[in-house]
Amino acid sequence: MPLTLTSLGSAAALPLKESYFTAHVLNVRGRLFLLDCGEGTQLRLRQLGISLGAIDNIFLTHLHGDHVFGIFGLLSSMHLLERTAPMHIFAPGGFEKMLEFYFSRFVNGPSSFPVTHHLVSGDRPALLLDGPTARVYSLPLHHSVPAYGYLFREKKVRRSEARSVAYCTDTAPVADLPAWINGVDILFHEATFLEQDKCSAEKYLHSTAADAARCALESGAHRLVIGHFSSRYKETPAFLAEARAIFPATEAGYEGSVFSVPRSAIT
Ligand SMILES: [Zn+2]
Ligand SMILES: [Zn+2]
Repeated sequence: MPLTLTSLGSAAALPLKESYFTAHVLNVRGRLFLLDCGEGTQLRLRQLGISLGAIDNIFLTHLHGDHVFGIFGLLSSMHLLERTAPMHIFAPGGFEKMLEFYFSRFVNGPSSFPVTHHLVSGDRPALLLDGPTARVYSLPLHHSVPAYGYLFREKKVRRSEARSVAYCTDTAPVADLPAWINGVDILFHEATFLEQDKCSAEKYLHSTAADAARCALESGAHRLVIGHFSSRYKETPAFLAEARAIFPATEAGYEGSVFSVPRSAIT
């Protein structure tokens, strides 16, 4: 009965030799959710042995290129593989135009599978998906374009407690966010900058590692995973040190890192 979060990439706007664009895979008891789809995501999925066919729902946080440039290559490969299962893509407004462009320019004839864009909007959390293994809620964030995090709450199995994962990127600190994700098992939170560059975080509406740690602390999260590191830093351990000084149970979501929530750890 796995519940795992796999990091495919830890980079922010620019990739480095060994750091890739943002994308994550959440496995809730065998149902795979793709969270963001930066350039090269399908290659990262193949490298990690994750089947493209196992993904039925994609959640895009916002429409900046480092989070969406991989979606068309992924959809195109699925078409070439003659996928037939419906694909559901949850994304803020504007994504429908990107889909129109993709289908009009890059798909010859009808797609082998239907793609549905589910609009994510509003300034309060909302239920987006009531699936077989999890319910998914939107988390309005604060960024230079409309941006949403996502909260996944596992559905209970018999008398067991439900596990939960929150995925929050890109965003400046949001005052209400800790209350919305209270007691979450794993919080993924972006940490684009260090506190020494707080002015950059404020200017571009991102968070520092310390901001991410404060969110984890205030929310009562069990674990914090940080990522989306700016390429301006050559050494990423500084992010961990800064966050752990506030929230010790912090780990970095490096390429290929897998974080699991065992049932025994549930409270
Ligand atoms: Zn980004
Ligand atoms: Zn962004």
